Amino acid sequence: MTFARVLGHERQKAILQRAMTSGRLAHAYLFEGPEGVGKRLLAVALARAVFCREGTGCGDCPACRKVDHQNHPDLHLVESEGAAIKIDQVRVLQREMAFRPVEGGKKICLIDGADRMNPAAGNALLKTLEEPSGEALLILLTCRSDAVLGTIRSRCQRLPFGRLPRTMIQEVLQERLELGVTEGHVLAALADGSFHKALGRDRDLYLVQRREILKQVTALGGSVIALFELTRQLMEEKDRLAEILDILQTFYRDLLLLQHGAAESELVNIDLLEKLRRVGRRETVPSLLNKLEAIAASRRHLERNANRQLALDILLMRLAA
Ligand SMILES: [Zn+2]
Repeated sequence: MTFARVLGHERQKAILQRAMTSGRLAHAYLFEGPEGVGKRLLAVALARAVFCREGTGCGDCPACRKVDHQNHPDLHLVESEGAAIKIDQVRVLQREMAFRPVEGGKKICLIDGADRMNPAAGNALLKTLEEPSGEALLILLTCRSDAVLGTIRSRCQRLPFGRLPRTMIQEVLQERLELGVTEGHVLAALADGSFHKALGRDRDLYLVQRREILKQVTALGGSVIALFELTRQLMEEKDRLAEILDILQTFYRDLLLLQHGAAESELVNIDLLEKLRRVGRRETVPSLLNKLEAIAASRRHLERNANRQLALDILLMRLAA
């Protein structure tokens, strides 16, 4: 992966490239921004460019190939084992970074999920950040920079990443997944600026299951049995409840936009226009706001690890009202 092949983030690429060519790379960077937008890809591209014999990240020289095969002796990757990055992992990193570079001229360490360092690990890492060696380059990645120790943040050069524009994601999805314009639009809109979501396991959820979920939710009448049955089904997807709430949210947001006379191109669910119009006839602006608030409330409950089943029952009751 070269800089040029990482999609978007032109400003971030330019900053890193300029720093590299002028020999002024910081000793530590914090790449912060949403999940799945390419932070890690760009970090690897930077490592490749630093180690590359050609100085470009050519992809063909032995150094580039070692980076691609994750066996470059001067590139060290730390990620969480389970929920946290532990102090032992930071100690291994520190031992590793204490050696001179074997062949790369620099020692590069990627810490993916820097927010998951527990306090002991974070404090241990601080030592490394406080006494940087000229040969060390640390790249910390996080999608929750507020959860990274402030003392760590302040010792890194921070590089914020934004979401990728929807049109850019849509174009790539249509090309790579051979999707039609409508499917590309829906998937790009739901992936919310993240390639990881659009290309990963959420793809089927967004393209196929979404229709089924929306069909069932909008068909809920006063039947409590149907409602409990749907809760039971949703509970089977308990790792993806946040994404399911995203789906519901876009649907009711689309309905609200239609009530305000928005253009179809502003909607997410453009493949369900007929359904949106049909369901929209029995909704009003206040009823839609109420449903969107119900979705937001259940999201808060689920994030706080409240009783999931109860949270879903209440949500579906409010959506069926
Ligand atoms: Zn190369």
